[in-house]
Amino acid sequence: MPLKRGFVHVYTGNGKGKTSAALGLCLRALGRGLSCCFIQFLKGKPTGEIEAVKKLPNFHFIQTGRPDYDFCVTEVDKELALRGFQLAEEAIEKFDILVLDEINIVVHLGLIPLSRVIDLIDRKPPRVELILTGRHAKAEIIKRADYVTEFCLVKHPFYRGENAREGIDF
Ligand code: ATP
Ligand code: MG
Repeated sequence: MPLKRGFVHVYTGNGKGKTSAALGLCLRALGRGLSCCFIQFLKGKPTGEIEAVKKLPNFHFIQTGRPDYDFCVTEVDKELALRGFQLAEEAIEKFDILVLDEINIVVHLGLIPLSRVIDLIDRKPPRVELILTGRHAKAEIIKRADYVTEFCLVKHPFYRGENAREGIDF
């Protein structure tokens, strides 16, 4: 049974938890029989969530980044982001929940024009829930969203030299 009405969410800010929150929303939706498509931009490394969602029916997870992405953007990253966005434009018609993980950064970096993301939001089918994550969400995206959450950094062990931990951070 699809949603009666679908809304738009933005998870932004520099605190930890944006991708995790989007995954949590999908988990809840799956439990209620909704289908989810999770498109992760920029990142291409193995993560715990990829292993977990492989086991879930109705969860379609696609990573579109290169495995050696190191925050230094190249033409290849632009090409991969555009390809990922084409998948998003198709997926918006096919799933109940569509997550565009790190899309705000993709727009911030100029890899995909803001106008294309706005078009996608504006032509979202009424029953589809759309979630856009990543730091530096543009005001034009925030204006169109129904739920906007800013994850605020208070403390993070990275700043006392701790490395990212498998199973917690990836
Ligand atoms: P998560 O994937 O844990 O839900 P996130 O999506 O909010 O976090 P991103 O900005 O996508 O965070 O960064 C991804 C990685 O960087 C994660 O491993 C996360 O733990 C780590 N991270 C998140 N916020 C910070 C921060 N403020 N400083 C350093 N590392 C961070
Ligand atoms: Mg993230």
